[in-house]
Amino acid sequence: KLFEECGFSTALMGAITKQGYEKPTTIQCQALPIVLSGRDVIGIAKTGSGKTAAFVLPMIVHIMDQPELGKGEGPIGVICAPTRELAHQIYLEAKKFAKPYGIRVGAVYGGVSKLDQFKELKAGCEVVVATPGRLIDLLKMKALTMLRATYLVLDEADRMFDLGFEPQIRSIVGQIRPDRQTLLFSATMPYKVERLAREILSDPVRVTV
Ligand code: AMP
Repeated sequence: KLFEECGFSTALMGAITKQGYEKPTTIQCQALPIVLSGRDVIGIAKTGSGKTAAFVLPMIVHIMDQPELGKGEGPIGVICAPTRELAHQIYLEAKKFAKPYGIRVGAVYGGVSKLDQFKELKAGCEVVVATPGRLIDLLKMKALTMLRATYLVLDEADRMFDLGFEPQIRSIVGQIRPDRQTLLFSATMPYKVERLAREILSDPVRVTV
């Protein structure tokens, strides 16, 4: 299986090649066609599997498919991750593929100036990569609205639960329109994560690597 078979545009293929990605990893082979079809997905995969590109590449396609991309405000893609280290890694990966399209990616996590993040969000971002606590803070400050968000990723969901982020995740998900596409990635599927998945994903396809 090749990236070309996913039907990515020439620009996106160029960005993929520039990254040195020659062929999709196992999780990418399995998840990319399903995510690109618009289905919700539960991905059971660890860091190192290439899961980030499995949700970032279809997100770029999803955003570019928006008929009125220049209009409205607030992110279209929202990615939640348990730690600022992971959020930062996802942010870097997302930026590489977003840049050729002029898609703006905002990073929202603790340990750095909330005011700077407030300003970045106010200036406008089509994608926000966030840790749940800081995202809630900025939503309360009205730094952003979720009205336009239609692509939600919960990455390392089991770790977010271990860190006690379940209430924040539920609050964030509750602010995003129900007809969104939702992707949940987790290394393990303990009962609590399974229960959340059942509540917030619709008819998900399960992909395990
Ligand atoms: P991840 O599991 O998403 O954290 O990715 C692990 C590492 O694999 C990262 O350094 C990615 O840049 C890299 N990677 C992701 N997809 C591919 C691919 N198809 N070919 C080569 N490297 C990749």
